[in-house]
Amino acid sequence: MKRLELIPDVVRHSIGGELVRSQNGETFDNVNPATGEVICKVSKGSDEEINSAVESATQAWKVGPWSQYNQSQRSSLLRRVGDLILQRKEELAELESLDTGKPISETLNGDIPRAAFNFHFYSELCAHQVSPSFRSDDGSIHTTLREPLGVVGLITPWNLPLYLATWKLAPALAQGNAIVLKPAELTPLTAFAMHHIFQEAGLPPGVVNIVQGFGGASAGEALVKHPGVKAISFTGETVTGSSIMAAGAPTLKKMSFELGGKGASVIFADADLQLAAKTATRAAFRNAGQVCLAGSRLLVEESVFEQVISIVKSEMAQIKMGDPLDPSVTLGSLVNLEHRNKVASYVEYARKTKGHEVIVGGRIPDRFPESSAYFEPTLIKVDSQASRLIQEEVFGPVLTVQTFNSLDQAIELVNGTKYGLSASVWTKDINKAQFVSGKLRMGLVWINSWFIRNLHTAFGGMKHSGVGREGGQYSLDFFSEMKTISQANPMFDAPTKTWI
Ligand code: NAD
Repeated sequence: MKRLELIPDVVRHSIGGELVRSQNGETFDNVNPATGEVICKVSKGSDEEINSAVESATQAWKVGPWSQYNQSQRSSLLRRVGDLILQRKEELAELESLDTGKPISETLNGDIPRAAFNFHFYSELCAHQVSPSFRSDDGSIHTTLREPLGVVGLITPWNLPLYLATWKLAPALAQGNAIVLKPAELTPLTAFAMHHIFQEAGLPPGVVNIVQGFGGASAGEALVKHPGVKAISFTGETVTGSSIMAAGAPTLKKMSFELGGKGASVIFADADLQLAAKTATRAAFRNAGQVCLAGSRLLVEESVFEQVISIVKSEMAQIKMGDPLDPSVTLGSLVNLEHRNKVASYVEYARKTKGHEVIVGGRIPDRFPESSAYFEPTLIKVDSQASRLIQEEVFGPVLTVQTFNSLDQAIELVNGTKYGLSASVWTKDINKAQFVSGKLRMGLVWINSWFIRNLHTAFGGMKHSGVGREGGQYSLDFFSEMKTISQANPMFDAPTKTWI
C-alpha cells in the first residue's frame, strides 16, 4: 500500500470490495485543522450509497464465502488485519494526525497500536469462545449458541477515529456479521485506508462496507433507518445518541451507545499530590481535551488547593503546542475551526459570568495561521456547580477547578452532572478510595490513576453517558444473537420434568 493510495484526490466509499464515488458525484473538503489547508476531497454518501452498502453486506452475510467462515478462520483473519495495521503504523499515524490535528506522539504510540490490538485481542477471544450447555433432571441437553446478527451499522466519531472504528469492527467481525461503517465526516482517511488493509488481509468483498459522509439527514441517518440493518453501535455526542435511538425505533434495532462525558479528577488532601496533579493535568489535556474520558473537572480538597494548583500550572507550562507532525509536540490543534470557536465561546462565557476566574490561558494563540484551529491550554476556577463549564461537555483544552471540604461534598460535586462516564479518585487511604468509588455514578472509576484499561472489562457510561457496555465479552454479546437448542433424551427415566 503506497502512500499515494492513502491520500487520493477523492476519498471514495468502499462498497462490495470496490472503491466507488457517490452516485450523485457530490464531494466535500477534508481539511487539515492545523493549517486550514484542504488535504483532499471526500465522496459524500447519501441514501443510494447506504442502500448499496447494505445490499452488498446482506449478500456477503447470507450467500458469500463469509457466511461459511468458522471461528478459527475468522480469528486468523482478525490477526492478519491487526498485523497489517502494525506494519503500516507510521503511515496510519500520520493520516490520523493530519485529519484530527492530534500530536503524532499520541497517534503513533496510542491510537494506531491500540487499533491493531483491538484486532489481536478479538482474534484471541474469537478463537476461544465457548457455548454454555446444561443437562436437566430429565436428561435433556440444552445449549446456547451465538450466531451473527446479520448486517450491523457502526457510526464513529472524529476524536479517536481508527481506535474507535476498530473497537467495533473487530468484535462485529469476530461474531460473523457483515458491516456498514459510517466514519465521522471530519476524519475519513484512516477508515479509507482500512479498505486497502481488508483487501490485503483477504476479507471477502462486501463484509465491510465503508460509506463516507455526514450524519443527520444524510448517510448516518439513512443507515440507522435502513430496515436491512439489525443493530447500530454508536459512539458520539449524547444528543446524537438520542436522535439515533428515535430514528432506529421503527425498525426495532438493537443499539449500543457510548456517549459524552464530564470526567472528574478528585484530589483528597492525603493523596500523593505531585502524582495526582500531574496525572490530572494529563487527563485534561491529552488530545487537547477531546477525549470522552478526559478529566475535564478537577476537584481539590480546599486545604491543598494552592499546592495542587501550583503543580498543575507548572505541568501546563511544559505543554508544547505546535505542528501535530512534530514528535516533540504534546498539544496539537482542535479538530476544526467550528469546534475551536465553540470551545472559545465557553471561555468567553466564563469571563463574562460571575464566579469564574481564568487562571491560565484562555486565548486563541496568534502564532499559527488564522485558518488553523489551535486553542491555549486553559485553567478556570469555578465557584458554582451550575456553571455551564461544569454541566456541559466543552471537549477542548479547558480544565475547570472546584474545591470541596468534605467527603460528601466531593461525591455530590462529582455526581452533580447529567453525565456518568468516568472519574479518578486520588487518596492514600484505600478505605476512602473504595467508599468514594462505590458512591460514584460513573461507568469507570480509577483509583490513583487515569486511562488504564484492560480490554476484558466493561466499558461505558451511566446516566447520559451511554446505554449498554462494550469491551471483551460484552461487545461479543452485543454483536450476536443467542439461540438455545434443546434435545430430549427418552432414555432417562426422570422423576421430574422441567417445562417452559
Ligand atoms: P457526533 O455525535 O457529532 O458524531 C458522531 C458520528 O455520528 C459521526 O460519524 C456523525 O456523522 C454521526 N451522526 C451525527 N448525527 C447523526 C444522526 N442524526 N444519525 C446518524 N449518525 C449521525 O460526535 P462527534 O462530535 O464526532 O464526537 C465527539 C463526541 O463523542 C463527544 O461527545 C464525546 O464525548 C463522544 N465520545 C464518546 C466516547 C465514549 O466511549 N463514551 C468515545 C469517544 C467520543
